[in-house]
Amino acid sequence: MTLKTTEPFWRTKTLDQMDTAEWESLCDGCGRCCLVKLQDEDTEAIAYTDIGCRLLDDQGCRCRDYPNRQAQVPDCVRLTPETVRAIDWLPPSCAYRLIEEGRDLYWWHPLVSGDPETVHAAGVSVRDKVDAAEDELPLEDYIDHMVRWPLRLPRAAARRTRS
Ligand code: SF4
Ligand code: SF4
Repeated sequence: MTLKTTEPFWRTKTLDQMDTAEWESLCDGCGRCCLVKLQDEDTEAIAYTDIGCRLLDDQGCRCRDYPNRQAQVPDCVRLTPETVRAIDWLPPSCAYRLIEEGRDLYWWHPLVSGDPETVHAAGVSVRDKVDAAEDELPLEDYIDHMVRWPLRLPRAAARRTRS
């Protein structure tokens, strides 16, 4: 007799085991990783800004040209299981980071809620939080846009269930 599991794929598979559709659906659409980041030359520490990549739709929180993103933005990091393990700046809310760390998705993840709007309602996405696009500002102004919120979870979002 074969027992069928009712557990969703993100609880039973590692990042390496996911197929393309599962991998793509794991992105919650928060847009946090599409914010411009600054690196300290001395310490190599990464700081987020509230400046969006020029391809980021700051309301939809998705890439405007996802299939061609790397041709258009050469420093766009393509996430793979290897890059998820290698980079240390993914937000604590990022589903790829959560799964890689052996954790579960939060209630607001669209795969859990069944609703793509919950990532915005929970205050996790960058909707209404992006101050400018990278091509709207001179480089010397970027430092004035450093923010810490992309590396934090809003209190309501940190709960394990919707209240
Ligand atoms: S931070 Fe993670 S979950 Fe959010 S948009 Fe980027 S890849 Fe997707
Ligand atoms: S090119 Fe698209 S996916 Fe890459 S950082 Fe910019 S908005 Fe995000």
